[in-house]
Amino acid sequence: MKFPWPDQMRAACAITFDVDAESAILAVDRRFAARASTMSHQAYGPKVGVPRLLSVLDRADVRATFFVPGFTARRYPDTVRAIVAAGHEVGWHNDLHEPPYTLDESEERAIIERGAEVLEPLTGERPHGFRAPWWELNERTPELLAEAGFVYDSSLMDDDVPYRIDTAAGTLIELPVHWSLDDWEQYAFLPEPDIGSQIELPSKVLELWTAELDAMRDEGCLLVVTMHPFLSGRPARAKMLGEFLTRVRERGDVWIGRAGEIAAYADVTLPAEERRRMELPNLGGG
Ligand SMILES: [Zn+2]
Repeated sequence: MKFPWPDQMRAACAITFDVDAESAILAVDRRFAARASTMSHQAYGPKVGVPRLLSVLDRADVRATFFVPGFTARRYPDTVRAIVAAGHEVGWHNDLHEPPYTLDESEERAIIERGAEVLEPLTGERPHGFRAPWWELNERTPELLAEAGFVYDSSLMDDDVPYRIDTAAGTLIELPVHWSLDDWEQYAFLPEPDIGSQIELPSKVLELWTAELDAMRDEGCLLVVTMHPFLSGRPARAKMLGEFLTRVRERGDVWIGRAGEIAAYADVTLPAEERRRMELPNLGGG
């Protein structure tokens, strides 16, 4: 097995949601704030999607992780409270869904530090987990996260088991993701801005994710499923999630945990000397 999962489990699965709401569109262009129908497409996530998904998770007895931008937390505080009340974890997803590569170091540090200020009053604890908008970390982001007391990130794709990143401010656990396990590529459609242009059948997504589930079980991987309530909160898609969770459970050998639990387990299980430095290509020159 690729990773020593607990209790004879062959693999692990983290069910995660990025509660972008309007922020992912406003981060593209703030002028979309005036477009009522576009904004309503995004508002569906916290208003309708999250409550429906919480019921699906409750019926499956699964505890999940919700990464929440500051904008969503301020606009929909009751949604965040409902997530916490149902036993789920809340992590930070920047303030207005800013992609880190658009920020200089001091802006990025300030936004990462704001995570605890915004979320702690709603959740009762500092966030331990971070996910970068559009899964785009900067080379310096892990160090800024470690500096701000975060335990893990879930935005990189160079492995399929947890690993430890070494930074000048301490270490950070990475829970790797992939586009094939993200609902955005399956369901995202808006005429403007261009967020995608496909609306796939939930049955196709169920087949895709089940194939990953079983291959990842064979190899002892960590399956991080990423969804967005404005997309996966729609009825047929939420129903499909329920069926997928039944399949994960029925395998009987997959540990379903909140991302924070999986990161904490990885932190005590990975040998302390096994640390990776983020090494980006250096093309030299000026
Ligand atoms: Zn997002």
